[in-house]
Amino acid sequence: MTGSERPATPAGETPASGSLPHWSDGDDVPTITRGEGVRVSDDEGTQFLDFASQLYCVNAGHSEETIVEAMTEQARRIPYVSSSKHNDARTELAARLADVAPGDLSGVYFAVSGSEANEAAVQFARAEQDAPKVLTRWRSYHGATYGAAALTGDPETRATVERYAATSGSGKFLPPIPAAFDAESPEELTEKAADHLEFVIRNEGPDSVAALLMEPVGGTSGAFPAPPGYFERVRDLCDEYDVLLISDEVITGFGRCGDWFGIEAEGVQPDMITFAKGVTSAYAPLAGVLVRDSLGASLREEGIDVGQTFGGHPVACAAGVAAMDVYEDRLLDNVESVAPTLESELRALNAHEAVSEVRGRGFLWAVEFAEPETGDPYVDPWAGEGNETDDNPVAAVKEAAMDAGVLVGGGRPGFQLIVAPPLCADESDVREAVGVLDDAIGEVFG
Ligand code: PLP
Repeated sequence: MTGSERPATPAGETPASGSLPHWSDGDDVPTITRGEGVRVSDDEGTQFLDFASQLYCVNAGHSEETIVEAMTEQARRIPYVSSSKHNDARTELAARLADVAPGDLSGVYFAVSGSEANEAAVQFARAEQDAPKVLTRWRSYHGATYGAAALTGDPETRATVERYAATSGSGKFLPPIPAAFDAESPEELTEKAADHLEFVIRNEGPDSVAALLMEPVGGTSGAFPAPPGYFERVRDLCDEYDVLLISDEVITGFGRCGDWFGIEAEGVQPDMITFAKGVTSAYAPLAGVLVRDSLGASLREEGIDVGQTFGGHPVACAAGVAAMDVYEDRLLDNVESVAPTLESELRALNAHEAVSEVRGRGFLWAVEFAEPETGDPYVDPWAGEGNETDDNPVAAVKEAAMDAGVLVGGGRPGFQLIVAPPLCADESDVREAVGVLDDAIGEVFG
């Protein structure tokens, strides 16, 4: 389950998949049975261009043979080895990750999902700093388990746990977006948003704050890159107040924003990176935390005892190594060459009066909509409701695009669509998909 869209199947009603109430886009969704490259098809043979990479995770594209082969070979040799023992696939993937991670992030802890990776990172930060609080951004999404949902800023996700989970130990601050600060330039936005963050840290009490956890480019919350210099100010604040910086790269990692990790473009060094989704191109569940050398050493010294049965599953690690080969050999270059076309095609959607902003980086973009007369969003950004309601025309655009054969994601809040194709999409795929989206916007808004 992801934060990208609202559960549309109320508990008790027949869900689209699974036998228990389960998150889905509703009953009227295709049953996907096959995939190849950027396309998937359903049980009736209808094809879709998958410009959401399912849940922003099938980065290498569907049915990439080298990944399937690596998984098969691993499963034949030995499918599972206890996470308390060494395994060659796991060791190889850890080394490969350390090679591409920025700076000295060479310690790797493997988990199963992004939610659990974030919870582990929080556990590490608290142990290291001997401080309880982790600050995250309003509107952010960090996972669905109790701890990760409590860290999540998006009100709909928080609401699923807040009545029951102890949310102490997490605080929120505003992301550096124009809707949150009255700023006339990106530089002023940086200054105001960073000053606000400093205020929050001081107000919480710097000694009580272990870490900041945030995405380098907002993911399902709207694909917003930070304004220039923002992360430098954040890093300075972390150094000044002795707070760790954790970059949640569950979506932004593995080429999604052009580099191995989204934070690289900001030129600052995080203390930890959490990853999931693209690490195996979603061919098997795998996630993890990359930690700074010195932090890893200190955690080992303290003897912090964490580990999950399926964390670093060998078949998933074999998929990870093969996926990294594909990114390295072909797909990072493909993003670099195709991203400008994706950007210009999407920016052309601004010609629709109802499209208020197009933003993103690499292969992660959001198209935002607002009432042309008033500039008001179609759903209340802070209320956490209405993402998929019948009267939200943005959800209708997504549906119309799906009916015409293109899958895109729904953002949170639901006044935006998320466009994030597999990294193998070429220019003609991009033109075809954005053309369909263009028509879908025209169909809904006229
Ligand atoms: N962090 C971010 C930024 C995410 O987008 C997600 C999921 O979409 C998660 C964490 C949670 O990952 P998972 O669904 O694998 O638990």
